[in-house]
Amino acid sequence: MRLSLFYTKTRRSMASQDSINAYLLEKAGFISQVAAGVYAYLPMATRSMQKIEQIIREEMNNIGGSEVIFSALQPKSTWEKSGRWEDKNFRQIVYMDPEADMTFGATHEEPMTIVVKQGVQSYRDLPVILYQFQTKFRKELRAKSGLLRGREFRMKDLYSFHPDEKAHHEFYEEAANAYLKAFKRLGLDAYRVKASGGIFGAELSDEFQVLCQTGEDEVLIDHKTKTGFNKEVEDQLKAIEIKKLERVKTIEVGNIFHLGTKYTDAFDLKYLDASGIRQSVWMGSYGIGISRLLGTLAELNNDEHGLKLPRQIAPFEVVVIDLTDSKTGTKIHDQLEKTGREVLLDDRDEMAGTKLVDADLIGYPIRLVYSSKTAQEGKVEIKERNSGKVTLVDLEDVVKHVEQLLS
Ligand code: ATP
Ligand code: MG
Repeated sequence: MRLSLFYTKTRRSMASQDSINAYLLEKAGFISQVAAGVYAYLPMATRSMQKIEQIIREEMNNIGGSEVIFSALQPKSTWEKSGRWEDKNFRQIVYMDPEADMTFGATHEEPMTIVVKQGVQSYRDLPVILYQFQTKFRKELRAKSGLLRGREFRMKDLYSFHPDEKAHHEFYEEAANAYLKAFKRLGLDAYRVKASGGIFGAELSDEFQVLCQTGEDEVLIDHKTKTGFNKEVEDQLKAIEIKKLERVKTIEVGNIFHLGTKYTDAFDLKYLDASGIRQSVWMGSYGIGISRLLGTLAELNNDEHGLKLPRQIAPFEVVVIDLTDSKTGTKIHDQLEKTGREVLLDDRDEMAGTKLVDADLIGYPIRLVYSSKTAQEGKVEIKERNSGKVTLVDLEDVVKHVEQLLS
């Protein structure tokens, strides 16, 4: 891809922001703020979020999920029927159009239950596991920290429907493990932390928390088992247990809930078991913050020059900067593209300094520079963004070398 054809603009100067991720992602041209907690995702961010989504999609498919796209607009009556409209916490966050009697989906337990009811008659129709990637809307009173807490944000939400408690719990554990796998693939070390059920009910939920000093959550963790407790359930622990745990600041990247039969009973979603008896369906819900993940990765991976997103999330893997008048850079770019690499040729009519500064700011994992100096030796300079390591490589070995670094 040629940078002259790919829409992206970095900013030279930026007003300070309330967080590192907002500052860097906006400066590097990934996002553009529309209002507090509302962002436009520009091409760079869109590519990164698509990569995040693809990793999560693969893990959700692995546990039997079927992908759907539900509507964000939902009739108010849906929430009245489940009783959630009476819930002060829910009412506080949901956007509402009073004229149309429609809301903007803040979560999707009810709409999913309604649709699944249409397809489930007997035990043969279960389990049902549906998930989607969607924009969610919530009136966050504290919309802040860039992508970490938006009023409009991307979420992956999955809903599971099982015939009984045992089958539900088995799947819940599978989903928790799939979450840990997904976060690992994203380059994150996530802790599985017990937390209150929140708006969803009494049983403890599991949060997936990533250590980050600027995070807004506080959790008590055990490094060995990578588990812990959210501060909000601290009073349920014994003093001796608390002593063994470390108190840290974190970002919640995912949260999974046992819902029991609360929503399925509210919508009378029942099935006939093998002996023809009508039974309740057990439900769970499983969320991951997609845009929050991009924010988290930016918050954790940066230096004074800019972003250092992990290679599997960075919008491109390689940038080629040719400072000579030759076509060498173009050739290298074309060769790399042929091998399937996501490579960008910086062919903009810009000063060398601008190109180099932008490369660090955007944080391409690998930067290739061909200059009159390296040309004299028939070489190309390879710089790894993460380690800062610089190597000079023979022209004919560049593709092989990049392959080695990226595999
Ligand atoms: P939080 O406790 O951070 O307010 P929540 O528990 O209300 O989040 P869930 O309903 O469990 O959130 O949503 C699932 C996931 O969606 C969360 O784990 C988080 O990663 C993400 N998420 C929730 N609210 C926001 C938000 N306002 N902006 C960005 N991501 C969010
Ligand atoms: Mg939560």
